[in-house]
Amino acid sequence: MSGAALLQKLGSRLAGLRGRLTPDAGMDKITWFRAGGQAEVLFQPQDEEDLAHFLRAVPEEIPVTVVGIGSNLLVRDGGIAGFVVRLSAKGFGQVEAVSPTRIRAGAAIPDKRLAAFALEMGIGGFHFYHGIPGGLGGALRMNAGANGVETRERVVEVRALDRKGELHTLSNAAMGYAYRKSSAPPDLIFTSAVMEGYAQDAEAIRAAMDAVQQHRETVQPIREKTGGSTFKNPPGTSAWKEIDKAGCRGLLIGGAQMSPMHCNFMINTGTASGYDLEYLGETVRARVLETSGIRLEWEIRRIGAFRSGHAIDPFLGRLL
Ligand SMILES: Cc1cc2nc3c(=O)[nH]c(=O)nc-3n(C[C@H](O)[C@H](O)[C@H](O)COP(=O)(O)OP(=O)(O)OC[C@H]3O[C@@H](n4cnc5c(N)ncnc54)[C@H](O)[C@@H]3O)c2cc1C
Repeated sequence: MSGAALLQKLGSRLAGLRGRLTPDAGMDKITWFRAGGQAEVLFQPQDEEDLAHFLRAVPEEIPVTVVGIGSNLLVRDGGIAGFVVRLSAKGFGQVEAVSPTRIRAGAAIPDKRLAAFALEMGIGGFHFYHGIPGGLGGALRMNAGANGVETRERVVEVRALDRKGELHTLSNAAMGYAYRKSSAPPDLIFTSAVMEGYAQDAEAIRAAMDAVQQHRETVQPIREKTGGSTFKNPPGTSAWKEIDKAGCRGLLIGGAQMSPMHCNFMINTGTASGYDLEYLGETVRARVLETSGIRLEWEIRRIGAFRSGHAIDPFLGRLL
């Protein structure tokens, strides 16, 4: 169905929404990969109340997918059915200190801005966010981490709305954190969180942030169209080492390439489709399986439908 037809079908149910509804919105404009199909309808709520109203109004059989800044997303070329929700910085980008070591922040705040605010407040433990290009919502879902620190070490509690628009407050334990994942119910849309750091002098925080940035500039292709680490590190080894061993550093398929600089980073060299990127990833998985017997697990979230005629045979990396 086209986005306009979906909006027409829902008609007056959506009356009173204050956020922006965009039919047939190109996800290539949102994702860091600059690739992928369209969202049937993109909804950018004004604030938490507007989002709750939307979730109550949209019938449950219509899928709702939340995205953040799109720095960990591979959208397939057939696009995303139903609604894609993206929180706006205006309604969900607020940040405040609620105690000398605690910060409350909206889920749309960029990680970098959160790190800068913690620096201003003299709160340590947030420096690692200086190098992560996503937003807080994505960090809460992905348990984003770097430089030996993970989001789960900072989270006190998270506010979220479920698919019915009901409000929940989740403790750190209820977020069910593990390496690069949260097992909180998948329908939850995180709207804000209270995070805790520790008192630290501004100079030490600044030095830690500078070290994070300098390290990235030298080892990661951060100016490319990429999704960061493509695969999770398997137990006892690094994904990049296994990819290198399998001869996949620099491997190019269509416009998609395993970065010659950091071979666990996949890049769009200019014209890659979502299919090129996923096909490359599955080819790498197949070769690593053959070389080391390790089944790499995707860290990048793949969402949406294949374009008709496209499908990928997992582990073999060839067209079905
Ligand atoms: C150059 C580069 C470097 C990177 N370095 C790192 C790194 O060092 N460490 C690291 O952990 N990651 C890294 N990443 C990956 C990425 O930045 C993180 O995973 C980030 O936390 C994703 O946030 P996002 O806002 O972009 O989320 P998106 O990519 O938009 O979404 C990721 C997931 O989060 C979910 N999500 C987003 N917002 C919400 C919300 N409000 N409520 C519920 N679920 C939500 C989405 O549904 C999706 O499943 C890197 C990426 C790039 C491009």
